[in-house]
Amino acid sequence: MLQKKICLLGAFGVGKTSLVRRFVDSIFSDAYLTTVGVKIDKKVMSTVGRSDPMALILWDIAGEDEVAAVRVSYLRGAAGYLLVVDGTRPETLDTAESIQARIGAEIGNAPFIALLNKSDLQEEWALPAERISALEATGWTFARTSAKTGMGVEESFEDLAGRLSK
Ligand code: GDP
Ligand code: MG
Repeated sequence: MLQKKICLLGAFGVGKTSLVRRFVDSIFSDAYLTTVGVKIDKKVMSTVGRSDPMALILWDIAGEDEVAAVRVSYLRGAAGYLLVVDGTRPETLDTAESIQARIGAEIGNAPFIALLNKSDLQEEWALPAERISALEATGWTFARTSAKTGMGVEESFEDLAGRLSK
């Protein structure tokens, strides 16, 4: 079966582990578990327009605010990635931008989607729309997700899977 490595990237606490758990296990836990090192999950999916199923190998990298701590060896071989932002903390968009600027050398221009996560927290939403549109103008694709309610999660993984090179 075709297998594709996908990395989850983003600042500490944005919801990377929760998104993978929601997608792979269809659950959400409020318990705060710090990811140590890297956790690898696998999800088989049938992508629209493809006859045979494909397996996504999901690499959940330990959340670090230090962009430098995103170790390049984790990124090697990635077919694409999800850049996760916490919609209630604008500084996590800064982190996403730094990561994006930095990893190009390692995985070239692999497809990615920026996930604006925690979209269930409408009242605490704090991302200026101008920043989002400015990044869209540079080619970023955004999707709103909630690992808590499940909103947009499956769709975003499917969207990314569909963008991966064959
Ligand atoms: P990570 O460090 O990026 O892996 O983040 P986690 O998945 O560990 O999540 C950090 C915290 O945010 C945890 O307390 C989660 O329960 C919470 N969280 C994650 N996603 C969501 C979401 O979509 N909505 C809400 N309300 N909380 C979330
Ligand atoms: Mg984590």
